[in-house]
Amino acid sequence: LFIALEGGEGAGKSTQSALLVKWLEEQGQQVLLTREPGATELGQKLREIILDPATGDISDRAEALIYAADKAEHVDSVIKPALKSGTVVITDRYVDSALAYQGSGRDLDLSDVERVNRWATDDLRPNLTIVLDLPPKNGLGRFAERDRIEAQSADFHERVRTAFLELAAAEPQHYLVVDATQDREQIAEQIRARLQPILPK
Ligand code: C5P
Repeated sequence: LFIALEGGEGAGKSTQSALLVKWLEEQGQQVLLTREPGATELGQKLREIILDPATGDISDRAEALIYAADKAEHVDSVIKPALKSGTVVITDRYVDSALAYQGSGRDLDLSDVERVNRWATDDLRPNLTIVLDLPPKNGLGRFAERDRIEAQSADFHERVRTAFLELAAAEPQHYLVVDATQDREQIAEQIRARLQPILPK
């Protein structure tokens, strides 16, 4: 079972992924929690480059390809081997982040970003994508220091939010959208309710 957690800045992905791991383990599942960018040694280096404000402005395509390279390494060396051994894999961000941030946030053609990411992931798709939906002003308020992406305009973050919601609306059977202004237990409960029937026996 492959689960992706998506959402804008400060939506509570780390909190919810930790709660989810705990619950899945209580259900007797073997679980791997991983994240993008930066889950591998290569990814860690790419993450530093891409998020360092000192990197400054780079080409939108270069940025998209760096995220895609992180993803390719992540899928091949972490996600696929874990899924093969029957582990439930939860990734904090996946292809939808690329579609939302590089496709809608930056000005790249969505179908190009999609094509590159399908290739980078060898078309491995999550069984379920959980979108933690939060108005950007609520989420960004949490950070005193912003990384290169968090420092983008309010408009950028609005486009990202809308993109996640549109992706979910286009394929509702593969998505759960949760109102992330609720308290953490309410959010966790909605996630558990959606996952319970699809857990591996
Ligand atoms: O989820 P986390 O905060 O660790 O993500 C790191 C940063 O990378 C965030 O600022 C996020 O907006 C950015 N990001 C991005 N494009 C992606 C994935 C993450 O701009 N495809």
